Order: sequence, then structure tokens, then C-alpha cells
Amino acid sequence: MLRRGRLLLHLASALAVWASCTLATPSHGQRLRQLDGGVVSLTDLNFDDQLANGKPWMVTLNAHYCQLTRELEHAFDKLAGKLHPDVSVGKIDGAVERGLLSRFQLRNLHAVYHINGTETRQYCEGHACEGSRLQTNQLVKFAQEGWRTQPPRTGCTSPVSRCGKAVGSITRLPAKFKSTYLHLHNDLQYSDLTLFAGLLAVPVVVGLSFICMLDARCEMQISQAALRSAARLQLQGRLARAAPRPAIRGCCTSASSTETADAAPERDARAQQQAQQQAPARKRRKIDPMTPPPPASEFPAWEPRDFFRFELLHTSKKSGARVGRIHTPHGIIDTPGFVAVGTNAALKAVDGPWADAEGQQLMFCNTYHLLLHPGADVVAAAGGLHAFMNRQRPLITDSGGFQVFSLAYGTVHEEVNSLKRGTGKSKHKLEHNLVAKIAEEGVTFRSYRDGTKMLLTPESSVQAQKQLGADIIIPLDELPPYHTEQSVLEASLQRSHRWMARSLKTHLADIRQQAMYGVVHGGLSLELRQRSIDYLTSLPFDGFAVGGSMGKNRADLFWLLEQIMPRLHERSSGKPVHILGIADPASIPQLVTYGCDTFDSCYPTRVGRHGTMLTKDGPLRVVSGQYKTAFRPPVEGCTCHTCRTHSLAYLHHLAKAREPLLASLLAIHNLHHMNGLMAQLRQQILDDQI
Ligand SMILES: [Zn+2]
Repeated sequence: MLRRGRLLLHLASALAVWASCTLATPSHGQRLRQLDGGVVSLTDLNFDDQLANGKPWMVTLNAHYCQLTRELEHAFDKLAGKLHPDVSVGKIDGAVERGLLSRFQLRNLHAVYHINGTETRQYCEGHACEGSRLQTNQLVKFAQEGWRTQPPRTGCTSPVSRCGKAVGSITRLPAKFKSTYLHLHNDLQYSDLTLFAGLLAVPVVVGLSFICMLDARCEMQISQAALRSAARLQLQGRLARAAPRPAIRGCCTSASSTETADAAPERDARAQQQAQQQAPARKRRKIDPMTPPPPASEFPAWEPRDFFRFELLHTSKKSGARVGRIHTPHGIIDTPGFVAVGTNAALKAVDGPWADAEGQQLMFCNTYHLLLHPGADVVAAAGGLHAFMNRQRPLITDSGGFQVFSLAYGTVHEEVNSLKRGTGKSKHKLEHNLVAKIAEEGVTFRSYRDGTKMLLTPESSVQAQKQLGADIIIPLDELPPYHTEQSVLEASLQRSHRWMARSLKTHLADIRQQAMYGVVHGGLSLELRQRSIDYLTSLPFDGFAVGGSMGKNRADLFWLLEQIMPRLHERSSGKPVHILGIADPASIPQLVTYGCDTFDSCYPTRVGRHGTMLTKDGPLRVVSGQYKTAFRPPVEGCTCHTCRTHSLAYLHHLAKAREPLLASLLAIHNLHHMNGLMAQLRQQILDDQI
């Protein structure tokens, strides 16, 4: 519709301009003055038209009020009769046709010229004409042959040269404007007001037309650029699918943003060639989504690791709660234990030693973010993640899949909230573009940092985690959205199982003192959860995690884990169980009773950044005005650095002053609170209180 509207506007503009020009321009016949006998009266308006008749011209230029003029006119009347029809004869009233006077660059009137094509020759000027007392016979001789003896005038001195015509066009404008006005006003009966409005309308219409054309041109260029970009991306996508699977950041198969433009055609050609070569392989990759994963018989039996083991210390007589220790190459993790999340190999606003001092043992780092920056190869060059961040305690990394699929579907919390608001997935429409394709080979996504296209496969995820070198690693799995049909969920589960099997094979080929946890999926379907437990526990994983959608609220979560944890414990041979992404103080005490061992969440550090302290009595907002003069420890009895060092009033002041220090101080306290809570729960389990 928009394009059609612009086209109509263009047509209307063109019509208006045409109409204006047509109405404002007198007809050819009206422009010419009446012939004066055999001598043509030449004016600014008809000069060029008359001289274009293909004949030579004899032209006299004089003034009507002069005596000599009358003599010249008399001679020219006779001349016209004698030269007719071979030579045309004309006269110009220089006192009226000032424009023509400037074209001849004449200083004095009374001149006679011979004009033949683009050449102008002068016979006489001013007193020369008067002195010679022009004789008709002399003029005839000059018109026939005499002109050849005179040198032609050149450049702007000739009224019929290009320069002369240009001068004429300019000097003709006032006369043309005046004649147009008279024609419109007298002949066509337009009022002055109408003519003034029309005069204004013409430039407005022309200007609008010009703007519309510019706009249309810009839009066309943008469209062409978008098409070129789409074609390039499509080609890069083929390259990403066709190229051999790389080892590390290597999973990035598209061109980097720093690649030069000169290399692009060569790269495209290579991409096409590789895509053609790999086409049969891709066809083999297309499999039925319901294809079951490889059986356990394809894997070696699990054997106890000397570098990693779960030591069960006590199981509560009151519930499934248990106390244990996970022994890793970088130390012990007491369970049930809280796992702090340091997405970019750093806790938000908290240095590693500060967290260690508050009892933090295991830290969770995100492979997705570390792949994008600084890259697994950089971390490997530093000696691994422990050396890179100078941490001597245990680390766990995920596969990167969670972040990729969160970009596509959002978290369960976001999905539920968006549906409640009736906004669907609008929040993720923009982010959805970051996930290009989910295929059997892996998931293709775009870096949120620079848009670089990357392919994450089970193999490349494990290889990246090998380079990061965490104590516990996670295989690649698919995270389906919360609201999913059963058939889609089942297909997703099968794909997750196939991906985890590939991940495990890659891991077992090069274990490097790392433990791998299988991730139990299946959403809220008990049947699928049980199937997932049965399959994954048949494989030689060192531990298990519970992931995927676990309901929209705490009740769903508790119900699900209560149902599946006994089966998982029964079949996992006493291996540790981690709950992915859930570690809020309200959930943990109940989850512990199901025998869950570790819990990760960024909740404590995140709420700390936003001014909330976790206490056994609930959240404490330090920004509240009631704490302005609370010169007492923020949380009575807390032994964390913050509560030992600062008053609640000081924290309130930092919050009001928006000091970054507040985030550190509150995160330190919250980590201390979480680890204290876990220690308290461990003691309660040992005492069979829960
Ligand atoms: Zn404290």
C-alpha cells in the first residue's frame, strides 16, 4: 500500500508539473510576432526558432527611434525582396530586445550581420553603417559572397554559438516569464491569486516529488542490501553445516567480523564447494526425531574414578535427605551444598577469595559466555579455568545449551509471565533471531556480542569444556519450552538423549580428570522423566542433574522431584544429584528432603546487587528508610565480613547513594547466608531432624 501511494504521488506530481508548464507556455504560433513584410522581426523569444529554418540570414540590429534605422529598414525591405527565397532577412529592435543585444555583445546599435549556421559575420557597426550609406546592392553582394571575406565571430561573441544560446536562455527568462503571465492572465483569464498559488505549488510539488524519489531510492538500496546480506548469511549457514566439526571456539565456522572484504568472495566460493561436497553427509544426518539414542551396550561400564567420588555420610531416617561429600581434584564439596554462579568466570561483584572466606566450595561457570569471550582457547592457554581465574576450589561448567535455548524460548518464569500478560513470546521475538537452527548435528546460534554465527554440537561443547578444565562438566542437551505438546517433548527428550550419548562418547575418549553428569529431562511428564532416568543411569555418567522444565511454581517442582528422585537414587548407584538452576532459600529445605545434593543459582548474588539481604526471617531491603539510623549489625548473629564490619545504616546509605560497594557487601553476606543454610541443613540431616 505504501509503495502504491508513493507511485500515485509521483504521478500526481508529474502531472502537476506538466500542467503547469503547458498552461504557462504560449503556443509556438503565439510566440512569433507578425512578419513585417519580407523582413522578419526577431525577438528574444523567436530568435532561435527562426534561425533554425536552415537558411543563411541577414540581420540588422538597430533602434526604432533612430533616423539611420529607418534608412536601414528601407534598405532591408529591398534586400528581402532580392534575396528571397535563398536568404532570410530579419531585423532586431535593440531598444526593446535587450536580451538579444547582450547575445550579440554589441556596444553600438546599427549593425548588420550575416548568420550562417553557427557562424556569425559582421558587415558594419554604428558609424561604419552610417558612413557607408548602405546601398542595397552592396548588401546583396555581402549576403551572397562577401561574407566569406570576413572572419567569423567566435565563442560568446557569436549569438548562435553554444555560449551565445546560453546567454540568450538566461536573458530570455524575464521576457518569458512576462509573456507567460500575460498569456495566463489575459488569454486564459486566470486571476492573480490563482497564478500566485500556482507559482507556489510548482516548487512544492517538485520538491515533494524529489523527496519521494530520494526516499524510494534509499528504500530500494536498503532492500538490496538486506537481500545481499540474507544471501551471504544463507551461504555462511551452508558453510557452518558443511564444514568439518572444529575443536574449540572452533565451533564457530562462520567468518569472523574482522575478516576482510577481499576474502569474502573466496570464502563464499569455498563455502559452496564444501557444501556440495558435504551434501550427502548432511542427508545422512537427517533422522527421525523419535530415533532412540544408542543403547548402553555401546558404552563401557562405569568404573569408580580415583579423582572423583561421592562419599555418602548419612541418610536421614526421616526422609530421603542425605549428607555426603563429593571429592574432586580441587577439593571437597559438602552436600547438600549451594553452588554459586559465576557466569563469566566471576561472581558478580565478589572476588573468589571473598566467596571462599564465606564457605563457598563449588562454583558454576557458563560455557556459552566463556566461548564467546574470551574463548576456550584463551582459557586453555592460561592453563585452564582454575588457573585463569586463580581459583583452587571445585568448578562446574555447563554445556552452553541452556543459554542458547533460553535465548530461543526464554526461561519458564519468563514464558509463564508473558502468557499471563497476554504478550505471548513478544519479549523473545528479537532474541529468537539469535538461534538460527536446531538440527541433529547441533544448534546454530548467533553471538549476542557481535552476531557471529556459531555451531554448538555435543562434541564441540565437550571439547570446549575440556579446554576450560572444570571438575564437573555437563553434556549438551535441548531445553524445550515449558508449554510444549507431549509429542514435541518426547522428540526433544530423544534428541537430548542422543546428544548426551554423543557428548559422553567424546568425554570418555579423553576424560582428563573430569566428571560428567547426565541431565534428566522429560518436563512434567512422569513417564518421560522415568524413561530419561532409566536410560541415563544405564550410561557411565559420574553423576546426574535434573534439568528441563520443572513446572511453573514451587508446588510443581516439589511434586515432580518427590516422584522421580526415589527412582533416580535407586538406579544411580549412589552417585551425586544436582538440581540445575534452582537454589532459592525457600525451595532448598524441601528439595533436600528428596535427596538432592547440590543446587546452583545466581539468586543470592542477584538480589544482593539489588539491595536485598537474605536472612532467616526473610528478605531485608536495606534501602528502606527505617534503617537510616540503624547503627547495628545488619543481621544479628551473622559472622560474614559485611555484618562484622558495617552497620545496617551504612548499607542503607550506600543504597541511597547508589554506591557499587553495596553490591559486593550484600553478595558477600548472601553467599555466607546460603552456605550457612546448607551447613545448618546438613546438621539437621545428621541429627535426623529432617
Ligand atoms: Zn552477614
